[in-house]
Amino acid sequence: MTFPIQKIRNDFPILSRIVNNRPLVYLDSGATAQKPIQVVKAMEKVLYEYNSNIHRGVHTLSNLSTNAYEKTREKTAKFIGAKHNHEIIFTHGTTESINLVAYSFGETFLKQNDEIILTEMEHHSNIVPWQLLQKRKGINLKIIPVLDDGTLDLQQLDAFLNKKTKLISISHISNVLGTINPIKKIIENAHQHGVPVLIDGAQAIHHTDVNVTDLDCDFYAFSAHKMYGPTGVGVLYGKENILNQMETFFGGGAMIKHVSFSGTTFNELPYKFEAGTPDYVSVIGMGAAIDYIQNIGIENIRLYEGKLFKYAFEKLSELENIAFYGTSQHRSSLISFILNGIHPFDTGTILDKLGIAVRTGHHCAQPLMERFGIVGTVRASFAMYNTFEEIDILVDGLKKVRQLFG
Ligand code: PMP
Repeated sequence: MTFPIQKIRNDFPILSRIVNNRPLVYLDSGATAQKPIQVVKAMEKVLYEYNSNIHRGVHTLSNLSTNAYEKTREKTAKFIGAKHNHEIIFTHGTTESINLVAYSFGETFLKQNDEIILTEMEHHSNIVPWQLLQKRKGINLKIIPVLDDGTLDLQQLDAFLNKKTKLISISHISNVLGTINPIKKIIENAHQHGVPVLIDGAQAIHHTDVNVTDLDCDFYAFSAHKMYGPTGVGVLYGKENILNQMETFFGGGAMIKHVSFSGTTFNELPYKFEAGTPDYVSVIGMGAAIDYIQNIGIENIRLYEGKLFKYAFEKLSELENIAFYGTSQHRSSLISFILNGIHPFDTGTILDKLGIAVRTGHHCAQPLMERFGIVGTVRASFAMYNTFEEIDILVDGLKKVRQLFG
């Protein structure tokens, strides 16, 4: 199949805008992806045609929005291969999903001196919630180191696993290095020791097929805005039996069965973890993003982005004095680099003048920056709507940066 790149680009009006007198080249989808017309229209339809709070009313509009919200849960469960719809908890995004587990799993199962295993490549949102738990409960964090090529030192995982280990929390794909971690192997290994595993899928869900049943992960977290959906919503998948045992997180409307001043009883899954009015408009928008991805086909996307990455890596490698961070064989479609002698911020600023949007800085992964002894990198991250021509423009732009800095 030829990849329908022009048709896809037409679905993303923002891609044809001009930035600093140049056609926009958007290479920052790792931070947030652009949204296709279909997603915006789905949200517009809710707001113009049946906006009404969910789960609360008997009237027609409320039933329409409740149905659309619950249909999205069903769609999301199918999208990631979950066994049950109620294993899908809608949150505000990956960050909230991980905080939910850190709080509720922590309150339920952890005590002083228990251990949680993380890795050196985690995003701050998969570090700080565990540090907060550490403060509350006196647990210990064990950190799997990253090797020079950006892969994990998995021998350390074996060394860390012991009777005190209560959870492993690890990214599927690194947002800085692009490394695709061997999560299936890690989960198998952890389960042999009776240890559950949380996967941070923020950088994976829109690039590769994710099947939580096949992976057998205990939790999987992701955000809609990285997968061409709206900001402000995301998902926590959790296995039914663990979620059922876990303490509640936020308290409020919808998460209760009965409230009285002598005591409150809580609702069942998934509502137990969905207190208050959810952003149902965005949840329904996320459903449209899932449809969009499935219409193109996640495998087609993966193959196309793989070609983009390969082309970009070859072209960038031809530049002089460029250092790459993350050179693992198993890579996703993002590249982190530094033009030696030039601060990433300067590179990003000059590229912006040329209409090219890249990410610069520590990418919310300061421990990883420390590991490599750098303050930050330039990150070009590719999505299904990027083209080979845009990569040529990036390479030309970097040549100009080099010329400017002599
Ligand atoms: N984990 C990873 C690997 C990420 O890349 C990000 C977003 N940069 C997050 C977690 C946090 O996602 P969000 O800000 O959407 O909650």
